[in-house]
Amino acid sequence: MQSTSPTQPLVCHDCDALLAAPQLQDGEKAICPRCVGVIVSRGRNSLQRTAAFAMASAVLFAVANSFPFLTMRAGFRESQMLLWESATGLGAGGYPALAAAVAIFIIAAPALLIGGLLYIVMPLLWGRRLPGTVALCRWVFRARRWDMTEVFLLSVLVSLMKLGSLAELTLGTSFWALVALIVCLTAAVASLHPRDLWARIEEARP
Ligand SMILES: [Zn+2]
Repeated sequence: MQSTSPTQPLVCHDCDALLAAPQLQDGEKAICPRCVGVIVSRGRNSLQRTAAFAMASAVLFAVANSFPFLTMRAGFRESQMLLWESATGLGAGGYPALAAAVAIFIIAAPALLIGGLLYIVMPLLWGRRLPGTVALCRWVFRARRWDMTEVFLLSVLVSLMKLGSLAELTLGTSFWALVALIVCLTAAVASLHPRDLWARIEEARP
């Protein structure tokens, strides 16, 4: 069983107490002796859970980008929209900045997050780390802030209510895949404990 380094000092987020980091086993937490706040926790099977949710997210991401997102029907006219067409459509409509934002937040950030998580976590399950893991890990924690699929989904729901009176709308497979993707990706990231992950990367063989 791997453990966090005992020489690293820990700082309590709540009361700034400086403490020597204890050796934690899976499922254990370090509690501040002064304010009783949780300083660091080592999740049980956190790598396995992250790997499982990241793999599910990869499948859902592929489904979300392959199947129709929305079908609009008005009279005899019917049009289907794919997820990435929400970005190209905005670009064609004269909103290049908005199109770039949608492409980054809805396609690029989740793709980087899923790909990065798999690249980091899968080899760690066997105690190995691939080249560039440390740099990629920083990027993954940054991409986490830029993944805004849930904001996109909320804006889609708002526009659906407005468009509902003009045309008959049917939500496609991609929409439901995106809903499941948000849940899986959130669970994948929530299962990761940054301090624990860094310790495991340090201990892994290159
Ligand atoms: Zn404290």
